[in-house]
Amino acid sequence: MPKLLDARTIIKRIVKETGKNEQEIKELIEEKKKKFAGLLTEDGAAFMVAKELNVDIEIKAEQAEVVKIANLSAGMRNIDLLARVLHVQAPRKFEKGARKGRYCRLLLGDETGEITLTLWNNDIKKIEKKKLERGAVILAKNCYVGTFNGKLTLALGFNGEIIVEPKGVDTSTLPKPERVAIKLADLSEGMQNIDVFARVLRVFEMREFEHSGEKANVIRFEIADGTACMQAVAWRDLAEKANKLYAGELIKIEGANVKSGLKGLELHLDWRSRIIEEPVVAFKIPELSELLGTKYTRKRISELQAGMQNIELVGEIVDVMKGNLVYYFCPTCKEKASGETCDRCGNKTRPRLVTTIMLDDGSSTIACTMFGKQAELALCMTTIDVLNKFREKDAQEIIEEARKRALGRTILVRGNVKEHSLNPDELEIIASEATPINKSAEIERVLRGLSETSS
Ligand SMILES: [Zn+2]
Repeated sequence: MPKLLDARTIIKRIVKETGKNEQEIKELIEEKKKKFAGLLTEDGAAFMVAKELNVDIEIKAEQAEVVKIANLSAGMRNIDLLARVLHVQAPRKFEKGARKGRYCRLLLGDETGEITLTLWNNDIKKIEKKKLERGAVILAKNCYVGTFNGKLTLALGFNGEIIVEPKGVDTSTLPKPERVAIKLADLSEGMQNIDVFARVLRVFEMREFEHSGEKANVIRFEIADGTACMQAVAWRDLAEKANKLYAGELIKIEGANVKSGLKGLELHLDWRSRIIEEPVVAFKIPELSELLGTKYTRKRISELQAGMQNIELVGEIVDVMKGNLVYYFCPTCKEKASGETCDRCGNKTRPRLVTTIMLDDGSSTIACTMFGKQAELALCMTTIDVLNKFREKDAQEIIEEARKRALGRTILVRGNVKEHSLNPDELEIIASEATPINKSAEIERVLRGLSETSS
């Protein structure tokens, strides 16, 4: 026995198929109800009237085409979409001239893509009543496709409906609930508690900030997933964790909030957020070089020549050279400054680490100069650590201490080759990136190389 449609929908269909007017049909329904002395419901009476008029009112006939997201295009109407709810935005108020109300966006996904469904006013109550949550499957009935900011969006049509966890539909092709994550390009301001998969592009130096007389750490890092690139900000304990991330690492961030920052959208990680390293990634994320748009060529140190750009090499740290360790850097002018305020722009400068290490890869050795985050990685110390130590020690003592930890460690360095600034007969690498060596990736690389030469 098929489920019955409600009276309102049946009346609409009768109007459409018979050309009778609505009033006429309502009267027929009232007659039926009278005849059955109140034993018939409104829906039941409408059903009988439809049958008598030979109007097909089985549920399946009502179903519009079920379309996949990748096949949607602007202007399509009367569409049914079966999808997993990837995100539910908290309803927001709007006021535009005399119009006032609420709207709420749902991000929906199926195996072909993602799209936003915007609900207005009373439609929001429908999902509030059903306590719609992230991960649920919905059948959004009778939608139409529009555009907003150049992207396709869905809205419920008149008589549109949202069926939460619909029965008797095949959900096996939808993204699995535990793998639900949003692509960076689909994030919008105000989204809360969202999950993303991404690759770390770069990590900036951790900094201290003061909040209600208490000192805590904050760190920024940049991530990308092939659809977009954005900065993420982590505070306190999570800043310490993020400080250990390195360029190229795959991560999942859970429970982040999307805010608007100086350079566009930012992900903010608070105490409810998590960073998961090397997650099982739900979709393919491009390699680091592809995301950065720079291709690095792997070289042996003995092959290097002045002027070579975008090279990478793997070597062991065999020495840490003497130096000042810290200099002032103006974030506005992006240049070295002589003190705590910049002589050029007058803004506050930042202390930044600099160090030169010697790398050995078995073919030769080379000096490698590193700044900021890269220097932190080589010395196994944060800038904050170094500045704290400067209260009691001088640069040489701190370098001695760092040397003990640094010697023997293997790192991967990417950057450009130039003549050594002090000794033009020698070469130097200016590192734009340094990462602790990922052993399994290196082994794989060597094996791949072996199988290529043997075949
Ligand atoms: Zn400046």
